[in-house]
Amino acid sequence: MTLQDDIMKTAEIIGKSNRVVIFTGAGISTESEIPDFRSPGGLWSKYDPDVYANYFLFLKNPSPFWTMHHEVVDMLLIAKPNPAHYSIFELEKMGKLKAIITQNVDMLHQRAGSGTVNDVPIYELHGAFGELYCLKCNKKYNHDEIKDLLTEKEKIVPYCECGGVIKPTTILFGEQLPSKILSGAINACNNCDCFLMIGSSLLVTPANQMPYFAKKKGAKIIFINKEDTFMNNIADFFLKGKVGEILPKIISYLK
Ligand code: NAD
Repeated sequence: MTLQDDIMKTAEIIGKSNRVVIFTGAGISTESEIPDFRSPGGLWSKYDPDVYANYFLFLKNPSPFWTMHHEVVDMLLIAKPNPAHYSIFELEKMGKLKAIITQNVDMLHQRAGSGTVNDVPIYELHGAFGELYCLKCNKKYNHDEIKDLLTEKEKIVPYCECGGVIKPTTILFGEQLPSKILSGAINACNNCDCFLMIGSSLLVTPANQMPYFAKKKGAKIIFINKEDTFMNNIADFFLKGKVGEILPKIISYLK
C-alpha cells in the first residue's frame, strides 16, 4: 500500500468512527518550530535531562531547570499552531473527536481552537508551560506574572510571596503525573473506537500505554510519525511522513 492508500483508508476509518481519540507528542509541533527532545539538535542535546529536568534535583536546586525554562519559554510563546493542530480542530468541529491526549506542554492545541466547539477535553499528561504554582502554598500563577517576581538579586528562580519556589505544571523526570488527568485519559482510551497517535516516539511511560488501552477495547489504531516506533506492531495502519502534510489530506477526504 502506498501512503496515499493509507491516507484514504484512514479517512474511511475516521469517517465510520464517532469516538476518535487523538494522542500527540512532540512531533506534531516540530513544524511549529519547536524541536522535539530526542531528534539530533533537540533540546536534550543541549540540556542534559538528568541535570535540567529531574524533579528531585529541582527540589534541591531549581536554578538549572529555570535557566532552561527561561530559554525555552521564548520559543514556546512565539510558536504558532501548524496545519496538523488545525486539522485536529476540524475533527472536533465535525463532532468526531472525544478527547485529545497530549504529551506536549506547548499549549498549541488550545491555540488552534481545540476544546472550544464541542468541549473536547485536552488531557495534558505532562502539564503546560504557561500554568505555574507555588510548591509551598499552591498559589497559581500564569506565565506573565513570573517576570514580575524576578528581581535584580534573584534573576533566575521566581519565588512566591509566601517564600515558596514556583514551578510550572510541566512534569519533570521522577515526578508523578496528576492522577485526575491520567485517569481521564485512560478512560477516553477505554471508550474510543479510533485511536490516532501523532508524532511520538512512544518512549515515555506511562503515556505510551495509551495505545494499548485503546487496542484492548477493540479500537482501530493508527500511527502517523516520521520514523518507525517500537510499537508499530499494534497499529492497524502506520503512516510514515510529516504530520503537517498528512493530517490535512486525511481531513480533506472527510469533508
Ligand atoms: P519524542 O521527541 O520522543 O518523539 C517525537 C517523534 O516525532 C519522533 O519519533 C520523530 O521522528 C517524530 N516527528 C518529529 N517531527 C515530525 C513531523 N513533522 N511529522 C511526523 N513525525 C515527526 O517526543 P515524545 O514522544 O512526545 O516524547 C518526548 C517528551 O518530551 C514528551 O514527554 C513531551 O512532554 C516532551 N516534549 C514536548 C515538546 C512540546 O511541548 N512541543 C517538545 C519537546 C519535548
